Amino acid sequence: MTASSWHDRAAAVTPDGRALIGGQRMWALGGQQFDNRSPIDGRSLGMVARCDGQDIDAAVASARAAFEARAWAGKAPAQRKRVLIKFAELIQQYGAELALLETLDMGKPIKYSQSVDVGGAANCIRWYGEAIDKIYDEIAPTADSSLALITREPVGVVGAIVPWNYPMLMAAWKIAPALAAGNSVILKPSEKSPLTALRLGDLALQAGIPAGVFNVVPGYGNEAGAALALHMDVDCIAFTGSTRVGRQIMQMAGQSNLKRAWMELGGKSANIVCADCPDLDAAVAAAIGSIYFNQGQSCNAPSRLFVEASIKDRFIEKALAMMPSFAPGDPLDENTVMGAIVDATQLNTVMGYIEAGKAGGARLLAGGARVRDDTGGYFVEPTLFDQVESSMTIAREEIFGPVLSVLSFTNLNDAIEQANGTVYGLHAAVWTSDLTKAVQTSRALRAGTVHVNQYDNDDITVPFGGYKQSGNGRDKSLHAFDKYTELKTTWIQIG
Ligand code: NAD
Repeated sequence: MTASSWHDRAAAVTPDGRALIGGQRMWALGGQQFDNRSPIDGRSLGMVARCDGQDIDAAVASARAAFEARAWAGKAPAQRKRVLIKFAELIQQYGAELALLETLDMGKPIKYSQSVDVGGAANCIRWYGEAIDKIYDEIAPTADSSLALITREPVGVVGAIVPWNYPMLMAAWKIAPALAAGNSVILKPSEKSPLTALRLGDLALQAGIPAGVFNVVPGYGNEAGAALALHMDVDCIAFTGSTRVGRQIMQMAGQSNLKRAWMELGGKSANIVCADCPDLDAAVAAAIGSIYFNQGQSCNAPSRLFVEASIKDRFIEKALAMMPSFAPGDPLDENTVMGAIVDATQLNTVMGYIEAGKAGGARLLAGGARVRDDTGGYFVEPTLFDQVESSMTIAREEIFGPVLSVLSFTNLNDAIEQANGTVYGLHAAVWTSDLTKAVQTSRALRAGTVHVNQYDNDDITVPFGGYKQSGNGRDKSLHAFDKYTELKTTWIQIG
């Protein structure tokens, strides 16, 4: 589709901002709404329900009632599989509409909304649907006089709170394993990008997920989000977002009913390129492509690049040559690879870090400016700082924007120590031709995922999550079921 036909569709779009509770679309019970604006041009995409504690109470009551009625949990796994596969098919069928909503709502390029977000969400839901009737329970090796069955049961009512950077995909990573396992779910999307989550709610109903099993409650974090995390009848809260809010949510779980609290939080990932890197061009392309993808708004973005001193000048020269291809453009043009920053607040945060980088003594080699402001949208140039030190603010704090910090090293152990010298531990990478060095470095890096000689490989079959203050538990893969199930032991006396 051409940019002008995406623009024609965008002009005609009228998103439904009402919550989905108990199978019904509805405005917030207190009547509150908020204006949802696009970061592409600042135009209003319509009003959205600003849900609060009363709406969360209603959603939890309907989720609990559906769970107790066993309308979903009581279905055979093969039946839940069929419904989830239908759900995935509907996501693909309505893919163009969902991609458009995602791009308008959070500013990412339409080509990635289609491939990464729509494609990834459909694939995730299909994968968990297909998995659920292939998992067996266990019998423990006890004495002959008894039988000890170890079975998995759904945890019950799951609250899922997700961020704005991959609105549909982060929602899918939570709801797919939770629903497949038989839970009822209440999804609280980010107030910055609620539209695709609400459409997912419609499609889930259309696929045959019973009313009340999947609820979508938009609103602000400190209102709807906090009410969900504090609720006494929510059994599990699965959160993706900042480490700051994750800390609060764990406290809320402790203050209320000790609900299980699973955290997927921030990152400051280190990418270490050794002089014996097998393919320098590939290393440059991965370093640049991964930090600027999604406008730098990825939790696992390799924002700290450690390059061995002897190859640093060559590396930077190649990196600078690639930068123009990441110039921000119209997110509704299918050739654009760099879209808009999600809102004015995030834009100011990113610009603040760029100023901090300059003031802190780092050398700005590319970018650093807001651009395309005549469009009314929020666009920042891909930015590269050289001569960064680990003590600088831009090397320590998660920027969540298109800003790359280059540090150099002469001793690999020193680079590993600096790479680990952060509160985060989400992703890391090492580039080397030496297998022993690769394995030793991978073992030494304190991160949930370590890449060797690549950065952006990803697959629904592998776990995703962090060490340290990047979180606990894992999304994706069969390991995600651990979050949404309880293990039950049943002892049976024989004879
Ligand atoms: P955020 O923490 O500000 O918000 C995330 C969600 O929490 C939103 O829905 C928000 O409304 C809600 N929230 C905010 N305050 C709340 C409160 N007091 N109580 C309950 N809920 C509250 O994060 P964000 O800005 O939306 O997203 C960016 C962050 O997410 C980054 O730190 C990024 O690294 C992280 N992230 C992590 C992963 C991962 O898998 N580890 C993936 C994507 C994003």
